[in-house]
Amino acid sequence: MRPEGLRRPMVKRRHRGMERRIALERMTSLFRLAEEEALQRHADRARRYVELARRIGMRYNARVPAAFKRSFCKKCLAFLLPSVSARVRVGRGRVVVTCTACGAVQRYPYRREQTARRAARARRQ
Ligand SMILES: [Zn+2]
Repeated sequence: MRPEGLRRPMVKRRHRGMERRIALERMTSLFRLAEEEALQRHADRARRYVELARRIGMRYNARVPAAFKRSFCKKCLAFLLPSVSARVRVGRGRVVVTCTACGAVQRYPYRREQTARRAARARRQ
């Protein structure tokens, strides 16, 4: 046994990796709840869940899970359900998502995918 004076004080050390993993789990379940509420047309409750999920992510330096990255409005945090709370249009090499709550527009390019597919088709012929 070590002498009393040399023993390190009881300090709870933070385990960042573990914190982040738990944060991710919590975020995922909150986003699932948000989706359920959005499906039942409870937009405000869904928004609240999105808000909580993002707050957890910011506190523990964890990213929004890829599956939910595009599922909420970056401006008003509404959960975006196509045809319910979002309008989705495709064209000119991009996907345009409009939030029906606040009118914010998000655009996602898919030019790269298009050219890749075209190149693959050309190679086959
Ligand atoms: Zn919005």
